[in-house]
Amino acid sequence: VRIRVPGGRLTAEQLAVVADAARRGGGGTIEITNRANLQLRGVGPADAPRLAATFSAAGLSAGEMGDLRRNILLGPLAGLDPTETADLGGLVGAIAARFDAEARLDGLSPKYGIVLDGGGRWHLRARRADAVVTALPGGGHGLRLSVRATGSERVVSDVEELPDVLTALAVESVGRRRRTVAGPDDRPAAPVSGPLGVGARSDPGRCWVGAMPVLGRMDAATATAVAAWADRHAAGRLRLTPWRGVVLGDVDATGADGATDEATGLGLVTGADDPAATVVACAGRGCASSHTDAIADARAVIAARRPGPGPAAVHVSGCEKRCAQHRPAAVTLLGVGAGRYDVLVGDRRVADGERLVASGLDAAAAVRYAVGAA
Ligand code: SF4
Repeated sequence: VRIRVPGGRLTAEQLAVVADAARRGGGGTIEITNRANLQLRGVGPADAPRLAATFSAAGLSAGEMGDLRRNILLGPLAGLDPTETADLGGLVGAIAARFDAEARLDGLSPKYGIVLDGGGRWHLRARRADAVVTALPGGGHGLRLSVRATGSERVVSDVEELPDVLTALAVESVGRRRRTVAGPDDRPAAPVSGPLGVGARSDPGRCWVGAMPVLGRMDAATATAVAAWADRHAAGRLRLTPWRGVVLGDVDATGADGATDEATGLGLVTGADDPAATVVACAGRGCASSHTDAIADARAVIAARRPGPGPAAVHVSGCEKRCAQHRPAAVTLLGVGAGRYDVLVGDRRVADGERLVASGLDAAAAVRYAVGAA
């Protein structure tokens, strides 16, 4: 069950509902996806309708058809990061409502997605989507937005127009083959780990606090504890990040270190130097296509690494599709046969940037290679 969370924003109460559902027939594990949604695996067909009703009652679903149109990805620090170009958070609700009400979108691909990138340190430049909205510098008191989709690029200065512009692009895409685009290529590469630890906001005395469950996965008890943590420190408001973590956006500066320590105590990653901060893995055994136990092998990589500044990014993928990879990886373990990996080094987004350095290694040898190479 995938729970689409437009803009990644949800309440502690909603997270507690998901935790409870995971505990009672929802597979037990909650994943934060790299589109800042939530996912429960291993849900039996008999449990799915009950869970859908539970999530609707908690405001976590717009109903079956509406829900498919709520893939709206927003920078996790929108409105909080003093370095961002513009805060696009206020647009999420208007776009979701416009899409939900539009009957011509009934045939929209369930994967259709929108990126809203306001810039800043955790910008979404490299993220591909069907439509990418990027805040342009130099907007003065107004806002200038670049709107890109396949075969289309325009600048919108009247923000009120944006929901209609995006709706028209989505309507045009119905019945066509999906082709994603990225935003303008004019920013430094996004960091390989998400917002972790304490960060300053522009308003004095307030901070944000970021944390990530290892590999973006947590059990129901941890999710319940994270909800209570958000209640204690941020009036019950959380943001999910496309780096598979969570952010409390509005924390009193005097309590920020304590909030971070509590997150560490819950087993969450709270520093970019943590060996787990830059390791990603796909669903592995949770996916029928996987050749390997990617999650267990990623955990083995984490366990064998030493903490240190900026550990290089490792990506463990159960097959060649690389579903989990939305950031450059220094080392990629690619499942190619029963329990076996090819090892690739470098960034495949750059022409000739990735090299195959070992083929068909068993998992233990691949893990050793990744730890040594990263
Ligand atoms: S990368 Fe392959 S094995 Fe992993 S989740 Fe995607 S399709 Fe499944």
